[in-house]
Amino acid sequence: MSNFNNSKMNVDALFLGPKSENAVFFKEMMEYAVMEHAHWRSGFHPEDPEFLTTVDRYAPEYRDTLYRTEGILNHLSSKLKTTSIPWFSPRYMGHMNADTLMVSNLAYVMAMMYNPNNCAQESSPTTTLLELEAGLDLCAMFGYDVNQSWGHITSGGTVANYEGLWVARNLKTLPLAVAKHAKAQDLLENKSEKVLLNMPTSAVLDLIDELKKQGLFEEVREMTCRGEGVEQGKLGKLLVPQSKHYSWMKAMDILGLGQQNIVQLPVDAGYRTDPTEMKKIVFSLIEQGKPILAVVAVVGTTETGAIDNVADLIALRKECETRFGVSFYIHIDAAYAGYACAMLRDENNQLIDYDTLIQRYHQEGIFPPEIIWPKPDVYQSFKSLSEADSITVDPHKVGFIPYAAGAICMKDKRIVDLISYHAAYVFEEVAEKGQTAKKTQNVLLGSSIMEGSKAGATAAAVWAAHRLVPLNILGYGKLIAAGITTANWMIESINVSEPFEIEGRKFEIYAMPAPDFHMVNFMFKEVGNISLEKQNQLNKRIYELCSYAAGRSYTNDFLTSSTSLTFEEYGNNPLSFCRYAGFSEQEWDKVHSLYVLRAAVMTHCLRDKQHFSDYWLELRKTFENKLQQLIDEKNKLSHSKNNYLKTFVRISI
Ligand SMILES: *Cc1c(COP(=O)(O)O)cnc(C)c1O
Repeated sequence: MSNFNNSKMNVDALFLGPKSENAVFFKEMMEYAVMEHAHWRSGFHPEDPEFLTTVDRYAPEYRDTLYRTEGILNHLSSKLKTTSIPWFSPRYMGHMNADTLMVSNLAYVMAMMYNPNNCAQESSPTTTLLELEAGLDLCAMFGYDVNQSWGHITSGGTVANYEGLWVARNLKTLPLAVAKHAKAQDLLENKSEKVLLNMPTSAVLDLIDELKKQGLFEEVREMTCRGEGVEQGKLGKLLVPQSKHYSWMKAMDILGLGQQNIVQLPVDAGYRTDPTEMKKIVFSLIEQGKPILAVVAVVGTTETGAIDNVADLIALRKECETRFGVSFYIHIDAAYAGYACAMLRDENNQLIDYDTLIQRYHQEGIFPPEIIWPKPDVYQSFKSLSEADSITVDPHKVGFIPYAAGAICMKDKRIVDLISYHAAYVFEEVAEKGQTAKKTQNVLLGSSIMEGSKAGATAAAVWAAHRLVPLNILGYGKLIAAGITTANWMIESINVSEPFEIEGRKFEIYAMPAPDFHMVNFMFKEVGNISLEKQNQLNKRIYELCSYAAGRSYTNDFLTSSTSLTFEEYGNNPLSFCRYAGFSEQEWDKVHSLYVLRAAVMTHCLRDKQHFSDYWLELRKTFENKLQQLIDEKNKLSHSKNNYLKTFVRISI
């Protein structure tokens, strides 16, 4: 299908495919997974007696139980087929969902048969190690030193964010605990509380090493907030962009830090955190003597896919350290766009410089010549991730891996000791008898992470994906580029699109300008309408017709998602898009909310220009049908309204 097969990995061979093109292979491998496991069982202690004879299996209740099993599965399958959302199809462009990698689905099922629990290595001798390896794959992709960092899988970005804030919180209270401890306090030489609350991450981690040397660490750790609780407001403010995911609100609540201690950083016209405003807010907090618990930057916002300027944030922290002696923790919420870092790395995991990168993209057919991605400042942001203290990333979004797979990476693994509940077994390496090579063993993930019992199958799925689709320009790079390319063509097509004419009414279509990643926000507008409220209603109704709300998703021609860009979250930034579509400032001031359709364009199927052009023509027809449907509804409604009025009038007379 594609013209872009310059490396050994073929993107179309990664998926079951929109027409189940790889069904035969998939079934063979699925059978292989099941039969391998079945042999594993039957081969286990062949000397054990058989528990079931053929005669037993012919007993009526036995047959009946099997028939009912089949019946329940028939029922479930029918339910799933009726109401599930067809992520696999390019007709779905909404949330961060697409087809999932065959290798991950197969690895998941294969491992799931063994039911490993990654809480403790004794319950998952294989998959715990796969999880650590997959975590380090991600660390390497972000430019962390794999000997210093660590990463692990979570249920999703939400829990990864909780964990980032959890370590940041405990880190913040360690110096205070040291200062309170009679034997340990000398380590900090009578530093003021202000200094204690503003130490750089690495200095606090060095303190842990020192405490361990003196055998005081565990005692002191019980005097941090994990033992003593959080004193109201003491730890300062969490700075998160207005564009944040709502998991940050939940995190402040759950960790007892209080939502009122969130300071929202305003975003600029590109929906990124405004660096000037951020600086002002940080300086003003420092002037007021208020500590900063952590600053969060978002790499790929949930609503517009904007990529915050991470380089500015790193530079700001350096400036605060040198000018004011104040530092703070930095966490990056890259749940959505984190995997795009792979696009910047070569086959040896080295960062490719910007000019070479763009050149390679075009030479190797990863992007068509007319698409230049990323913007230089976005490149700098990806590059600067290696300076952040921790990073959230979601394999179940742009990693094309089935749920539930989020992840968190931490730059310096010493930080784990602040939250772990067992002597640090996670990184213990033991030399096996008679061998010099060291081996990780007795890993107790559950004691050092937020979750306890968890599926080892997920780890197998992520690990297998990283083996087949390397985290570099020729692996995930190629795959993710397909979506970015399609997103760009979508916007371009929308921009030059003729209006839709239906029963004498004209509808235009507008897209928000060039996104940082592959999120396309767009909306329809009836020509002549100047009311923003009506405009929002129109798009809300179109969304309903293009979503599961319309009923049987399986027969729907196009499915998308939607969002409201509100004043509350984005200030007056949506105004420029309102104006572009012909709405006045007064209208915006009145409504303060703009309803848009939202499409994370992740499909790998439309990376060929001809395929895309055919798709776009089909999509235009679909949009026309949807608009027609909407007008028909309105006509019907006004018709029945008139009838109702007539009846009403008759009665009242
Ligand atoms: C999706 C997302 C999250 C939450 O991740 P889940 O996997 O849904 O828990 C957090 N932050 C951002 C920026 C996201 O896009």
